[in-house]
Amino acid sequence: MTTIQELVKKSCATYVNGECALLGSECPLISGTEYRGKKIPASDFNCNYFEQYVLPLDKTLESVYYGKETVRVMTVNKNCKGCGEAFKSVSNRAVYCGDICRKSARKKSHRKYNHKRSK
Ligand SMILES: [Zn+2]
Repeated sequence: MTTIQELVKKSCATYVNGECALLGSECPLISGTEYRGKKIPASDFNCNYFEQYVLPLDKTLESVYYGKETVRVMTVNKNCKGCGEAFKSVSNRAVYCGDICRKSARKKSHRKYNHKRSK
């Protein structure tokens, strides 16, 4: 599998002779960078240009890259309001395990609403 660094060297249009043409310095995705005197490792740096134009060229790397992002987000253990199954969610507001339960719950409440109105 290609690494982010390899992809930058191979495919990034702003990467010229080890430097980022946009930043006028070494590519932070390869050598890391400094922000207000604080060192930022290459793995923690997000480059908008890279994410938009370079990363989509490598689908495997893209999914790993974004997979890595979701791992960093705290997951919450919940029980689905629809089927009662335990599920993991990255959102505090999620109450259903997936689209199926969400949709069927919506249908149920819709039916109730119609029933009341027909009386
Ligand atoms: Zn469910």
